[in-house]
Amino acid sequence: MEIIPRPLKIIKKNGVNHINRSLNLRFNNQNLKFTVNHLHQELEKFYQFHITYNSADQELNYIEFCLENTGQGSEGYILEIGSGFIKIAAEKPAGIFYAVQTLLQIMLQKKVPGSNEINLNCCRIEDRPRFSWRGMHLDVSRHFFGIDFIKRYLDLLALHKLNRFHWHLTDDNGWRIEIKKYPLLTEICSWRKDLEHIPWNQRAESNVPGKGVYGGFYSQKDIRNIVEYAAERFIEVIPEIEMPGHSSEVFAAYPEFSCQGKKLTVASGGLRSNPHNFCPGKDETLKFLQDILTEVIELFPSRYIHLGGDEVNKTIWKECPHCQQRIRKENLRDETELQGWFANRIAAFLNSKGRNVIVWDEVIAATSKIAATVMCWRGDGVGAAQKAASARLNAIMCPNNTLYFDWKQNPGDKGAFGVTSLQDVYNYEPVPDLFSAEESKHILGAQGNVWTEWMADKDRVEYMILPRMTALAEVVWSDIENRNFADFSHRLQDFKQILRQENYNFNQR
Ligand SMILES: [Zn+2]
Repeated sequence: MEIIPRPLKIIKKNGVNHINRSLNLRFNNQNLKFTVNHLHQELEKFYQFHITYNSADQELNYIEFCLENTGQGSEGYILEIGSGFIKIAAEKPAGIFYAVQTLLQIMLQKKVPGSNEINLNCCRIEDRPRFSWRGMHLDVSRHFFGIDFIKRYLDLLALHKLNRFHWHLTDDNGWRIEIKKYPLLTEICSWRKDLEHIPWNQRAESNVPGKGVYGGFYSQKDIRNIVEYAAERFIEVIPEIEMPGHSSEVFAAYPEFSCQGKKLTVASGGLRSNPHNFCPGKDETLKFLQDILTEVIELFPSRYIHLGGDEVNKTIWKECPHCQQRIRKENLRDETELQGWFANRIAAFLNSKGRNVIVWDEVIAATSKIAATVMCWRGDGVGAAQKAASARLNAIMCPNNTLYFDWKQNPGDKGAFGVTSLQDVYNYEPVPDLFSAEESKHILGAQGNVWTEWMADKDRVEYMILPRMTALAEVVWSDIENRNFADFSHRLQDFKQILRQENYNFNQR
């Protein structure tokens, strides 16, 4: 069985199941309706089936979906392919959905052109994920991607049994989420001068004259639509609102919330370590951000909200009278502690609304007192994970030297930064060596990050993530004893058949 991610246990049985066009689907729980329908639609795309529902008298050629106790946990399932029937059982609807993904992989790989019958070897699959956090991130600020592509991206997550979509909605190069209380965020801060013909790192630093024409944003209606689409596929959407750094686009419309109050233009590219941050010395800044987050939590039912906090250049804070007054008043040592104070204030606000906070690992370097989950990204992420575990905080691993999919796949490729090959991703182990059993419990899982400075369109994004996210899927789902790169590479050949059928633009090498 050529399945990715590799299931926990496959028990081969004697016999063959011949599925033909008069397939009957049986389920008795309305919570499974979407998943069953999804299987129906996918089969119809590739086979001329005449599928019927709930015909209890059909003795052969049916698939039965049951919510029952399986011992496989909330995302696990048991898939039994018998001669004449298929039974899918899980404790929760998510497990049924993942079983359907497994079944679809088997069925689509077995497709014989022109045939309307599928022959499957009988077996029993018992499966459940290793980690609860199986994520992919997407930066929609550096380049903007419309909701059709976001849905296609979510389809890819579902195909890989990934369950978290980290949506990087704001950054220096464009604000992408409608906030009703501050309409200029999308009227002005979502648009920049179009310098797409110039390589990203050669674009002028800032204050390029001319009207913004490159960009876009998601209306609140779009966002509700995406959140619902993701939920049907058992994916939690985690919005990220960057603060206090990576926020200079805001000052194109609301400069009063920066230290200097200077109006900027939205940067078209090129900026690294930009010093224009929110001013944590001003009470108005905190109120502005709380107003924004109040709308964000109404749109996103997610347990987590990501507050950013990476790469804060603090040079302007050193000279800002408001920031310096805050440091004195709160008895802080320096600007780093000021960032910690700021993060704690915002986190406390979200905690009071019943939400958990995620921060980049710089924040745990600024304060270990924060109630947050830490995304460990710098280097191998181990130092930050260690710090988080010692403070009894949970961590999500996304080290840039392995899981940043804007890095090249091969040394000779075009693109920025270093190299992280398919095999590097596959061999990645989220739990650091030397972690005790107790510390290991704090590692929720891992995710692939997709920064889009060098990805201007959807084809480029797909090329950069595929098949590296396929390798990641196995890292976060499969048991460590079941992981073997040679075996994965072999299964990947069949998996690519599915990517081809669905017209994804993947790296063919
Ligand atoms: Zn300031």
